[in-house]
Amino acid sequence: MELLKERILRDGKSLPGGILKVDSFINHQMDSELMFRCGEEFIRLFADKRVTKILTVEASGIAPAVFAGYLAKVPVVFAKKATPKTMDRHYVTTVHSFTKGRDYSVLVSKEYLGAGDRILFIDDFLACGNAAIGMADLCKQAGAELVGMGFLVEKSFQGGREKIAETLPGLKVESLAIVTGLGDGTITLA
Ligand code: 5GP
Repeated sequence: MELLKERILRDGKSLPGGILKVDSFINHQMDSELMFRCGEEFIRLFADKRVTKILTVEASGIAPAVFAGYLAKVPVVFAKKATPKTMDRHYVTTVHSFTKGRDYSVLVSKEYLGAGDRILFIDDFLACGNAAIGMADLCKQAGAELVGMGFLVEKSFQGGREKIAETLPGLKVESLAIVTGLGDGTITLA
């Protein structure tokens, strides 16, 4: 998606350790129009999948997921990283965080994910694929059908796409911008 690629090249920052900082338009301050356009693009890409619910993880996947859900007229569920006191029955899985270097739990209430749901998972980044595999595990526990995954930014040099293909063969995976390299102050896009 040209608009997102241009923005990454203009405002993204390459940090040591293969991290792309995009907090002026995705991860902290959000460009709402850009996030709307990204949501629109996801709906176009997955139009044939008869999605009934969009799943994301707090916090940075929520903006594009909500716009996609609004356009497709389907609910949006965001998996939580801490158990709220008010949630008694939930599915839980463990995910290794690439940026924080530690494991964390993600959970979804049994009320909001279940058999009969056709799930599109949307997130900000695809790096090593751990978050994506964790979300697929939550769908499996719930008996929901995962029909696709959409990412704003994929870092193709960290193996996430290959990991998803191995674990979930045949699943449709789309990324709106693919970063092929991050150097000392340089960002290379596909
Ligand atoms: P994965 O599980 O695919 O290794 O990493 C995905 C998660 O890690 C994303 O949800 C995102 O929050 C975070 N992440 C991975 N790489 C980056 C990056 O380069 N920049 C930022 N801002 N977050 C990242």
